[in-house]
Amino acid sequence: MNLTVFGTGYVGLVAGACLAEAGHAVLCVDLDLRKIDRLNQGELPIWEPGLDAIVARNVGEGRLAFTTDVARGVAHAQVQFIAVGTPPDEDGSADLQYVLAVAESVARNMAGYKVLINKSTVPVCTADKVRERVAAVLAERGVAQPYDVVSNPEFLKEGAAVGDFLKPDRIIIGTDSDKARALMRELYEPFNRNHERTMFMDVRSAELTKYAANAMLATKISFMNELANMAEILGADIEEVRKGIGADPRIGYHFIYPGCGYGGSCFPKDVQALGRTADQIGYEAPLLKAVEAVNNRQKGVLFAKLARHFGGADKLAGKTVAVWGLAFKPNTDDMREAPSRTLIEALWAAGARVQAFDPVAMEETRRIYGERDDFTLAANKYAALEGADALAICTEWQQFRAPDFDEMQGRLSARVIVDGRNLYHPDRLKADGWAYYSVGRS
Ligand code: NAD
Repeated sequence: MNLTVFGTGYVGLVAGACLAEAGHAVLCVDLDLRKIDRLNQGELPIWEPGLDAIVARNVGEGRLAFTTDVARGVAHAQVQFIAVGTPPDEDGSADLQYVLAVAESVARNMAGYKVLINKSTVPVCTADKVRERVAAVLAERGVAQPYDVVSNPEFLKEGAAVGDFLKPDRIIIGTDSDKARALMRELYEPFNRNHERTMFMDVRSAELTKYAANAMLATKISFMNELANMAEILGADIEEVRKGIGADPRIGYHFIYPGCGYGGSCFPKDVQALGRTADQIGYEAPLLKAVEAVNNRQKGVLFAKLARHFGGADKLAGKTVAVWGLAFKPNTDDMREAPSRTLIEALWAAGARVQAFDPVAMEETRRIYGERDDFTLAANKYAALEGADALAICTEWQQFRAPDFDEMQGRLSARVIVDGRNLYHPDRLKADGWAYYSVGRS
């Protein structure tokens, strides 16, 4: 099938490349000329394991192309994916301007039947808004054209996006049109060979499913962080508690790790947006608000632990803190809402210097913070420690899990680790003379 994908970010580019890998002829459209130029030169604008090979292969074999030409994108296919950003608006609700702009572009250029597929994460009733926008533009053009709007939310995880897209747990499709349902079935046919992964439902249920999934996952994290903070005060070890509850199959081991808070481009904004949806329909949703509040507080725990170690936040002035891990989670360069940013900005505000290292997010960090006197990006994890008064760990990259503690001791000016991901054994480190602070372990 011919397919068009609007947006070449983490979702659009992965979806476009993987749909081409399945045999479709995909044209990706983005308004960002620099991004499209880079893609056309064979460079990826994002870091995602395995994506470069798939993009190169499918471009080479003529199934994947990139353009800024909207009219060409609309003409290319019956099926038009909308995979653009839905950042939080000022009040926390999802900003739909980019989604509606694509709807408008399709409506302005369409000649014949189109299916507009919302792959972006959008609040319930957005399909109605897309439908209305298309109808308004067609009326303005004075033409009647048939079209359907489908909800097909994306569940991929950054860092494992290619595998998630090629072998999805489920493919959620919300539609009330038989014609669109048949097209969606054909489109996703290559992904259903082992067993049926597609679930058809009504549009609003599909839209809500995406928010429900992210809010559930965020709730698990905030719940564990709440318990971790209590465990610290009570003299319990949250890691023992985690294993103890995970053994219950009704709870399970997945996604119950305590830490320094969740970040990324999805959980924070989606929990917030679902909360705003609750406000808009006049429903009080205290649980959602609490999930967000607990997370915001948790992002401050590393700074609080450092301040406590040094005898107060004012004592951090003039200190140097090494930071390991800048991306919001391992295997991505995405730093949106990353806990590292909360820590680094609090350290700067307190007058401290930061020496940071991340295996892949250095370029992104440079883009966000630029050059600063109180900031050094180190060449590797040990170089970041040189002369620092403490180490803070924000991301659980594999290469931080078993470091050479002798080497670390030789580089740091004091043996202090504040660990936001509970990577090490407190007893062992304490026995070796380290001041080691982790989350939920007193
Ligand atoms: P992103 O910011 O990485 O990329 C969005 C892209 O859309 C940008 O390249 C931008 O230039 C482009 N764009 C904006 N307006 C456009 C227009 N009118 N025409 C063409 N291109 C346009 O965003 P993302 O992380 O890929 O997320 C996209 C959507 O998918 C969001 O709604 C997000 O919530 C959702 N989502 C993201 C993830 C994730 O892990 N990142 C996972 C599931 C769902």
